[in-house]
Amino acid sequence: ARLANQIAAGEVVERPASVVKELVENSIDAGATRIDIDIEKGGSKLIRVRDNGSGISKADLQLALSRHATSKIHTLDDLEAIMSLGFRGEALASISSVSRLTITSRPAEQQEAWSAYAEGRDMAVSVKPAAHPVGCTVEVVDLFFNTPARRKFLRTEKTEFGHIDELLRRIALSRFDITINLRHNGTPVRQYRRVPEQGDPVRRLKAVCGQKFVDHALRVELTHHDMTLRGWICTPEGARQQNDMQHCFVNQRMMKDKLINHAIRQGYEQSLAPDQYAAFVLYIDVDPHQVDVNVHPAKHEVRFHQARLVHDFIFQAIFDALQQASS
Ligand code: ADP
Ligand code: MG
Repeated sequence: ARLANQIAAGEVVERPASVVKELVENSIDAGATRIDIDIEKGGSKLIRVRDNGSGISKADLQLALSRHATSKIHTLDDLEAIMSLGFRGEALASISSVSRLTITSRPAEQQEAWSAYAEGRDMAVSVKPAAHPVGCTVEVVDLFFNTPARRKFLRTEKTEFGHIDELLRRIALSRFDITINLRHNGTPVRQYRRVPEQGDPVRRLKAVCGQKFVDHALRVELTHHDMTLRGWICTPEGARQQNDMQHCFVNQRMMKDKLINHAIRQGYEQSLAPDQYAAFVLYIDVDPHQVDVNVHPAKHEVRFHQARLVHDFIFQAIFDALQQASS
């Protein structure tokens, strides 16, 4: 179990932002509508993620940390097997193997809250009574305290926090229905308020991408059979100033995909915007059977079965939006 956790930790926990990603995704999985993230010293001192989701029962607390305790992986030769399994059910165990981790939680059906603490690779978990509203708080203190080589790879506080900020921007764009608050060293840095069902999504777009993006944004919407594309692209002029704002989600997952980027690029080019700029926040929804997603954490690629069709569809949506704006 020890070796398995170390290997998994190497894969999942590259830097503070990877911890935040795993924790926030767990909060989302738990149905949270509000997530508060506290960071200290770029995450190397503290990462705290608090949510109002379904919580973890006392009985499951220990389990959540020690899943894979019975892992059959004993040697490095088994590494490949682990990789192919992916990292499901391993995030918390991995993170706790390289930090001092506390989970405190109260599920709705439990009157009191409980807290589980684990430190380092020995995975000794102790459970204690605690105070917490319905939901869950995971606190990760002293990340990499027991892996000095990894700790040495951390960049400056500012850089590590920048990665966290960028990650949360993407998550905020993928889920308008969740409030996300981010603080660094006690100071509120981001407040992404949830958009209620009948609310105005542009408010959230502005909070994440800024007023400038919104000022130059064109609404995009196209449906073809069971494929839809929605979102915003910037006019060529706006794109020139907002070139780093490129966010694309396929079935709610963030993607950086060549085919999609090529289609968007071509949409701009054919609209006589030949310079290399593009700015967009786009949501593509397709039949899940029509795509293969590469689940490797570092890659964000997708393979569409009908690649040509999808390419032309995206191109058309971008082209139409830009044409309409310029006419
Ligand atoms: P996975 O998410 O792949 O199941 P994790 O190690 O990330 O594995 O989490 C282990 C388990 O702990 C989850 O399956 C879930 O049951 C529970 N859990 C983790 N975080 C939360 C949370 N914020 N709210 C409720 N349950 C949680
Ligand atoms: Mg998880």
